[in-house]
Amino acid sequence: MNLVLFGPPGAGKGTQAKILTETRGLPQLSTGDMLRAAVAAGSPLGRQVKAILEKGELVPDALVIDIIGQRYDQPDCNNGAVFDGFPRTIPQAEALDAMLAKRGRKIDLVLELKVDDAVLLGRVETRIKAGGPARSDDTPETLAHRLKVYYRNTAPLIDFYRAQGKLKSVDGMAPVASVTASIAEILDARA
Ligand code: ADP
Repeated sequence: MNLVLFGPPGAGKGTQAKILTETRGLPQLSTGDMLRAAVAAGSPLGRQVKAILEKGELVPDALVIDIIGQRYDQPDCNNGAVFDGFPRTIPQAEALDAMLAKRGRKIDLVLELKVDDAVLLGRVETRIKAGGPARSDDTPETLAHRLKVYYRNTAPLIDFYRAQGKLKSVDGMAPVASVTASIAEILDARA
């Protein structure tokens, strides 16, 4: 199964993706993690994207489409994957559909985690108070910008996937365990 976890920054996509990896054996394909790893390694890609990440802008579609295609061809994705933080634009979603179609696969389900902006900002503030930001783009200012980018570029994907009949929404403001349970219910209902 190929799943997209969808939602604004701080919605809890990464948390739920990791749980899905443990419970369903689907690898988590997080473009954010891959890009941060490239920055940490100081690779040519990392040098190219460092400033973009710090500003909370989107890196060019062609770059993320390329890294996700390479990652998806690793053998651990034979049974599918959880896409986390990708796609983030309509062209990325179209490229993902094309990439999967070439391999005789498709996106089966898109899980939207719905969380209000005020709650997202509160989560980042709590993380900062609890010991400083773990990520250089986790400041209230950058989060506000990432949210703007989300509404402008990424939220249109909700209609894109709804039109494909693949969208399911989950209340991302519930406790982590409840979100996990709601997702499990949706997945088990399909099995
Ligand atoms: P979050 O969703 O919490 O903001 P991510 O870890 O998914 O964080 O992404 C961090 C940053 O990496 C983004 O702000 C953006 O700069 C870059 N990035 C990640 N995924 C993509 C993508 N699919 N397209 C463009 N840029 C991306």
